[in-house]
Amino acid sequence: MNYKESKLYSIATLSCPRCHTGHLFINKNPYKISGWDKMHTDCTQCGLHYEREPGFFQGAMYVSYGLGVAFSTAMVLINLLIGFDVFIFFVSNTIGLIVFAPLLFRYSRAIYLNVFIKYRKEKPDVSKINLAS
Ligand SMILES: [Zn+2]
Repeated sequence: MNYKESKLYSIATLSCPRCHTGHLFINKNPYKISGWDKMHTDCTQCGLHYEREPGFFQGAMYVSYGLGVAFSTAMVLINLLIGFDVFIFFVSNTIGLIVFAPLLFRYSRAIYLNVFIKYRKEKPDVSKINLAS
């Protein structure tokens, strides 16, 4: 398995977990004000329906929480390197979490999708496949 077939590639490029070519989000720029959180309902390349069941992406909140904790832990370590100050840590961590919130949102959804959906090398028949498998 090479990098392009790995889940890491799908997560890093925010691409469809099944075909790795279709993009998950409508706008590739996460900082575009309108529609930064809008996803395609189905993959534009293989037709995979992303929301497997109603409320599927609520589980991505747990992934987002984990990413936020990892970010805050990294901020603690950085603050320890420069001499820990609670006020500087609090301000830098809050600003960092706000600035990176769109990225945390997107990567948490990509990670969550990749937990449940496997990569398929062959191109699926779009007319027959509608749901993730
Ligand atoms: Zn796809």
